[in-house]
Amino acid sequence: MSRPQQITVLGATGSIGLSTLDVIARHPERYQVFALSGFTRLSELLALCVRHVPQFAVVPEAVAARGLQDDLRAAGLPTRVLVGEEGLCQVASAPEVDAVMAAIVGAAGLRPTLAAVEAGKKILLANKEALVMSGALFMQAVRKSGSVLLPIDSEHNAIFQCMPRDFASGLSSVGVRRILLTASGGPFRQTSMAELAHVSPDQACAHPNWSMGRKISVDSASMMNKGLELIEACWLFDAKPSQVEVVIHPQSVIHSLVDYVDGSVLAQLGNPDMRTPIANALAWPERIDSGVAPLDLFAVARLDFEAPDEQRFPCLRLARQAAEAGDSAPAMLNAANEVAVAAFLDGRVRYLEIASIIEEVLSLEPVVALDDLDAVFTADAKARVLAEQWLNRHGR
Ligand code: NAD
Ligand code: MG
Repeated sequence: MSRPQQITVLGATGSIGLSTLDVIARHPERYQVFALSGFTRLSELLALCVRHVPQFAVVPEAVAARGLQDDLRAAGLPTRVLVGEEGLCQVASAPEVDAVMAAIVGAAGLRPTLAAVEAGKKILLANKEALVMSGALFMQAVRKSGSVLLPIDSEHNAIFQCMPRDFASGLSSVGVRRILLTASGGPFRQTSMAELAHVSPDQACAHPNWSMGRKISVDSASMMNKGLELIEACWLFDAKPSQVEVVIHPQSVIHSLVDYVDGSVLAQLGNPDMRTPIANALAWPERIDSGVAPLDLFAVARLDFEAPDEQRFPCLRLARQAAEAGDSAPAMLNAANEVAVAAFLDGRVRYLEIASIIEEVLSLEPVVALDDLDAVFTADAKARVLAEQWLNRHGR
């Protein structure tokens, strides 16, 4: 084999970042870490640098950068520390880089991910918020640069695996009737509405099947995660919102399905461990060991399915409405959700208020076209201001 592929891992200290590094470390002959980024937990970033010896590490600001650079030098490492969004964009687009794992959480990931797209890199996309915010511009940039876009989100990776290899655009052109997007239903699938009024951030983050960062864990509990994924699926697979059906599947063994016009339904199954989609995307179109245990169907024993309850999960309804409205609506939905979830994790709002905040923000701002990245960030900023106004008005 030729030289190892050079990989940049944006958001290396997070749940997806660490799983990615675990898979990479199993295949040193195939992959080498080019750059790692972290935002908090910088001592962990230092430990990752010691383990993977990247050429670059990126941190949010100059004081942290000097501290990390001193520590790296003391450890005898050649790693150079870069700062902020500019540093992230630099390591995402550097000529030496083959693939970029986009695993920063939230809107903060958009510019660095787009920088990687524009540089024509292979994109391993975990940062769904980037696509939700700017789907049209993002996909246009992918087409223009010829970048290979591979979904890491387990559902989208499953759909990708169940789609024909030559799929380019239009579900009907390849005989697909609909996409069945599975959802575990999260920790509150069966919690009564009365109890939901009082659930804590730790309860929301205690996902029954997946271990993930705190923001996406709350999104899973509210099912906003499935709403964001619905929008993500529409962009990745050129689908209309009405062609994507959400199916609650509490075991999280089937990661999504594709329903074809001849009656065939293809599914991808596996243990709920993100190293499977990560390994799939890293090695695509080949297959490599991911470290994930083989699926034991006898231990799983049964697979259940139910329809989602939009009464219990209003965020799913709001996301579907935003998907149908298009233009700026998904960016505003995403930004309002980021503010609401951060406030919930800080103990400033109650769980059920997350949906109230988002619904109010979406009702106050008209939907506008997003012609460029500035327009995306303007919509994002407006939604954040409106969500903050909700918090102020309610004394939070
Ligand atoms: P996480 O919170 O564990 O990690 C987030 C990473 O982003 C960390 O490295 C953090 O330092 C960095 N980060 C946070 N804010 C930042 C900022 N403002 N600027 C730069 N870097 C910043 O989150 P995660 O669970 O790993 O999720 C990462 C992304 O992957 C999210 O978009 C999430 O929706 C998506 N995703 C995660 C999973 C999962 O199983 N964890 C599954 C599917 C999709
Ligand atoms: Mg997912």
